Amino acid sequence: MVSIQAIRGMPDVLPDACNLRAQLLRAASEIIESYGFREISLPLLEKTELFARSIGEVTDIVEKEMYTFDDRNGESMTLRPEATAGVVRAVVQHSLAHGGAQKLWLAGPMFRYERPQKGRYRQFNQINVEAFGLAGPDIDVELIAIGARLWKRLGVSHALTLELNSLGDGEGRQRHRAALVEYLRGHADVLDADATRRLESNPLRVLDSKNPDMQAMLAGAPQLPDFWDAESREHFETLTARLDALGIAWTLNPRLVRGLDYYSRTVFEWTTTELGAQNAVCSGGRYDGLVEQIGGKPTPAVGFAIGVERLVALMEAAGAAPEPVADVFLAALGGAAEAQAPVLAEQLRDALPGLRLLVNAGGGSFKAQLKRADRSGAQFALVLGDAEVESGTVQVKPLRVREDQQAVAQAALADFIRKQWSAAPAS
Ligand code: ATP
Ligand code: MG
Repeated sequence: MVSIQAIRGMPDVLPDACNLRAQLLRAASEIIESYGFREISLPLLEKTELFARSIGEVTDIVEKEMYTFDDRNGESMTLRPEATAGVVRAVVQHSLAHGGAQKLWLAGPMFRYERPQKGRYRQFNQINVEAFGLAGPDIDVELIAIGARLWKRLGVSHALTLELNSLGDGEGRQRHRAALVEYLRGHADVLDADATRRLESNPLRVLDSKNPDMQAMLAGAPQLPDFWDAESREHFETLTARLDALGIAWTLNPRLVRGLDYYSRTVFEWTTTELGAQNAVCSGGRYDGLVEQIGGKPTPAVGFAIGVERLVALMEAAGAAPEPVADVFLAALGGAAEAQAPVLAEQLRDALPGLRLLVNAGGGSFKAQLKRADRSGAQFALVLGDAEVESGTVQVKPLRVREDQQAVAQAALADFIRKQWSAAPAS
């Protein structure tokens, strides 16, 4: 029979990659929570209307990337293509921002019907950080600092550049729009089909185009910073001064607009040159109007999303390795030893929570078991034969350094391992 393959663009994440992702998630949750953010968990499915209303009808995501279907009741549902819309929906539904600021984060899969390629999938993962009720720019600075701290922890700072812009606000944004439409009309011959269609309905999106044939034309388009109002300029200048004080390097990208409609003022992207065309690893910005648009009270908000697969690819490029399966491997041979092995193992687990202890299963000679021990990546093997059972000891055999094995009393084994374990280089 023909075997069944996974859906295109929805890759299985095998254990090595899963482990790198887990390392990333551990570091991210620890850092994000150290800034006072709390985790929230939301459904993968939302009513289609939520995304149309928040992301914007005339955007890549809503026009061509959503997994939308009618459920059995004929109601239109969509697998979330991004997280902010759902977070805002939940904040409004549960009045989460009424008592003051609300700092939330979440991690999980997103779904977009895109052309699958390296770094671009149809199911991919994001880590999202969102702050409500704070007008900034202090909180904008904090979000960027969280990213910078995480890149440092993961050893990928060298590969990432922070690009900043402000979309401005109110009247200035309107004037920019008018100037942009006029400019684009004057270059109608260069516009591709998407751009032509968006010229009237959503001209800002044209700036976001990745079409190489339009880049030269777009380089000459009216730039947002020339249209900033006084408050937007001040917001941007305070933000960048504080980034400077933190030693976080940034560059102004006057053409950065982000692909979703809901942004206002601050927008930013952490980009890399190491992943080919898929250069955005983390993107975010301010969306002061969205909560009201979704039916809540006016609430300033700002957030960002990390593309987990792209960040894992950067970690791999920087030499990050999956953690070994085991710290310690327990080998046992002979009736009495094999009977005692699980008891000893459970005692060690009681004494040393978090120790990765792999107990031999499936029998085999000591030689075969020690081969498995080596493959497991363990620092050392505990060897238990009937003679050791008799004497109440275990032979401890170092696997990664040239040292002799030694007999250790079973009663002292947990202490012995604790010392060796904490001496092992942290992974
Ligand atoms: P891109 O410009 O690469 O299409 P985007 O602007 O659509 O990205 P966002 O909607 O801002 O991306 O999503 C935040 C982050 O999620 C991106 O910076 C990127 O790292 C990641 N991301 C977006 N789409 C995908 C995808 N299809 N596969 C993997 N990661 C993705
Ligand atoms: Mg995209």
